[in-house]
Amino acid sequence: MSHKVTLIPGDGIGPEVSGAARRAVDATGVKIDWETAELNPEIIAKTGQSLPQHVIESLERTGIGLKAPVTTPVAGGYTSVNVALRKRLDLYANVRPVRSIPGLVTRFSDVKIDMVIFRENTEDLYSGLEHEVIPDVVTSLKVITRAASVRIAETAFRYAISNGRKKVAAIHKANIMKLADGLFLRCCREIAQRHPEIDYRELIVDNASMQLVIRPEQFDILLLPNLYGDIVSDLAAGLVGGLGVVPGANLGENHAVFEAVHGSAPDIAGKGIANPTAMMLSAAMMLVHLREQAAADLLQAAVEKIYSAKLHLTPDVGGSAGTQEFTDAVIAAMC
Ligand code: ATP
Repeated sequence: MSHKVTLIPGDGIGPEVSGAARRAVDATGVKIDWETAELNPEIIAKTGQSLPQHVIESLERTGIGLKAPVTTPVAGGYTSVNVALRKRLDLYANVRPVRSIPGLVTRFSDVKIDMVIFRENTEDLYSGLEHEVIPDVVTSLKVITRAASVRIAETAFRYAISNGRKKVAAIHKANIMKLADGLFLRCCREIAQRHPEIDYRELIVDNASMQLVIRPEQFDILLLPNLYGDIVSDLAAGLVGGLGVVPGANLGENHAVFEAVHGSAPDIAGKGIANPTAMMLSAAMMLVHLREQAAADLLQAAVEKIYSAKLHLTPDVGGSAGTQEFTDAVIAAMC
């Protein structure tokens, strides 16, 4: 049986890393009927929409996307494609497994890091509700709702139970944002009470950031509202080798879009040196979602084999290989 998947190559390093991931997925032997949906700043400018109709239609048809980064302009310009996509398809849970890769030398190589970040994906300061009250005075609304907070907490606890995880830490700043983060925390506590078998604790986000650097091995599942989830995800990626190696998934009731944590990396775009690991591991998460566990394991193992051998690695992780050479090595490792 073949699976229909929407492939969004994006821009910047997107086409390079998504092309690599597609080749690696195809090499597992799983039959994927790829439907390519182009999305980049030129198309957005032409259509006048962050999320043009052809992308939505494709994702509605397939239900599954493998998405490379699309550039988000800083301070002005069109709204983020990711934010638009997550809201439009109600992809409420952003799941990012952050794991040490055996063989990859980092500042933290001597500790085993294995955590999964659950980031609420639809609200918080990403509501996009900003307002210039008078010149030089701006407000930005942080929206926290019971419905969204309960939903992400339930997702995190459900994942913990079905994956044999033991601990969930809710991350907040409820000492300052007593109402907004207070509501988020209350919802997390309610769900935690239903799961006494899971060790639940709460950490203020600044302390959590320090703890992540000092003793990252203590963390299992992290449960966060949107903005803290974004920041802590990059911090956590830095612990295991950087943005080039951390995958992610955006999950909703009816759709799932898999994408790396990194952005379009314009500084290295077109140079053929981008690390496709994050995109490949996102594709492995997609294969699990498609119930192609054997193919997912094959791809994951092939990537790990390359890191263990410390050969064919890209410059961001200390090697000198290009995207192509790394990808060829991963594919060869599957045979
Ligand atoms: P965004 O806000 O769009 O998520 P960002 O601010 O997180 O983007 P990135 O585009 O992810 O920024 O890049 C941050 C840094 O990490 C850049 O120096 C970039 O070259 C590097 N980087 C990101 N992804 C990769 C990758 N796959 N391979 C190698 N280096 C990468």
